[in-house]
Formats: sequence, structure tokens, C-alpha cells
Amino acid sequence: MKARVRATDDLWFEIEGDQEDEVFKQIARVQEIFQHKGCGACHGTNIKFICRLDSSSNDWLEVGCKTCRAKLVFGRTKKGGLIFPKIKWDQLSEKQQEQRANEKSYADKNRGYLPDNGWYIYRPKEQG
Ligand SMILES: [Zn+2]
Repeated sequence: MKARVRATDDLWFEIEGDQEDEVFKQIARVQEIFQHKGCGACHGTNIKFICRLDSSSNDWLEVGCKTCRAKLVFGRTKKGGLIFPKIKWDQLSEKQQEQRANEKSYADKNRGYLPDNGWYIYRPKEQG
């Protein structure tokens, strides 16, 4: 069984599986990981996939908005190393929770979900 899944206007995936549940899972993955209709903050559609390395050579995956510079960061599952967009408070690392402490009260009121579907604009804290 083969299928073509549209993520966005310029991004399609060809998937294939013997069983319906395999195809189902692959469609679900495409939709969760690659189907971003636009920026969650400004709703612009000028978005791009970004991969950057930090100083310890860990790679960071993000989808970024070229209009307002908001981004949606991805994490990896410990088991299997699958990636997922961080859309809930519990998915943020300790450091990210520190940086985004102002989103906690929203998440508490919204079953753990972050504002703007997880998109946020990084604002470095002023020192001192
Ligand atoms: Zn934006």
C-alpha cells in the first residue's frame, strides 16, 4: 500500500507499508513532524526548517518563522530517538522551562499545552 502525504505546499512524502496500521503511523508522523501550516505566534506562512549544532555538537531541530523569528523546538524520545515538536510544558528541558517561565501559568490552565502551539520568541534575559 502506497500513499502520498502532503505536509505543506512544497513538501510531499511518499510512504509505503504492508499494513494499514503502518501507513497510518507514517501519515501520523508526517503530520506531527512536518505539517506546519504557519507560525503559531504571528500566523505567517514564511517558515523554514532549521538544524543547528551547539558547542557540544548536539544537533537542534527547529521550525522558525522568518517574519517574527518565533520558533518551534523539537525534542527526541529517549527510546528510539524519534523527534517530536515540543508543544507541552513537560516536554521542555529544565533550561527551556527557565527561559520560558512566563508560559507556565498558561500551560497550567491549558492541560499542559504551551501558548501559540509551542512557538515562542526567544528573548535573552538581561544580565544583572
Ligand atoms: Zn511568526
